[in-house]
Amino acid sequence: MSPRYFSSSPLKTGPLQLAGAEAHHLLHVMRAAVGDQIVLFDGVGGEFSARIESANRKTVDCHVLAERKVDRELPHELVVGVAFPKGERRRWLVEKATELGITRLVPVETSRSAPQPNKTSRERLRRTVIEACKQCGRNRLMEIGSRVALAEFLLAAPTTAHRWMAHRQDGSGSAGQIDAATGLPTWLLVGPEGGFSDSEAAQAVATGWAAVDLGPRILRVETAAVALAGLVALRPAG
Ligand code: SAH
Repeated sequence: MSPRYFSSSPLKTGPLQLAGAEAHHLLHVMRAAVGDQIVLFDGVGGEFSARIESANRKTVDCHVLAERKVDRELPHELVVGVAFPKGERRRWLVEKATELGITRLVPVETSRSAPQPNKTSRERLRRTVIEACKQCGRNRLMEIGSRVALAEFLLAAPTTAHRWMAHRQDGSGSAGQIDAATGLPTWLLVGPEGGFSDSEAAQAVATGWAAVDLGPRILRVETAAVALAGLVALRPAG
């Protein structure tokens, strides 16, 4: 895939100026030159070819040439609520979630969650989403939701969606069921390092969520989230 650059405004054919991190990447990392053809995406689904018309140290003027009609999104909505881990593990989770095509990643507050990302932290994570989209070819940015309480997240999921919570308890279903259940919006939930409390798990089941067992080993939060989302995103019918 040829190098891709992000435009923070929706793309249409005609003149466009790139500035900031994207202009820096083009000029000082990729050493692009006037006349070069590049690929732009706008994070809301558009991908266009463009030509560099002129450049100075901080900005690049392009001519946006034509839309390339490609869709690399999942065929249905995939929302994942997670008790976010901290630091580098948080960044890793956001990168992998973007690559897998997750529509929206939502920080969920549970009784055992560490502090969930605030607005500033979410803005920083947006840059991780953009970088992952540049690399993986995704044209729609993954959304990072505002932090919500568990009870609110449980009820926000449409009752018509598949709703799976990663949790090992008596009666948890096996992950195999996910392969067979296609074609609907899907909401997933992964708990904090300390796990869901019994009452939280009971509340989820009472509101129509199904517990799914991911096997006999205890996975880190981000591993569980990526493994579970991978089962949904990569199943044969999408
Ligand atoms: N301390 C907890 C484990 C927490 S792991 C305990 O001992 O049970 C963090 C989260 O990842 C869990 O809340 C769950 O949502 C998910 N998870 C990790 N391993 C899992 C597994 N084997 N099956 C189902 N969910 C798992």
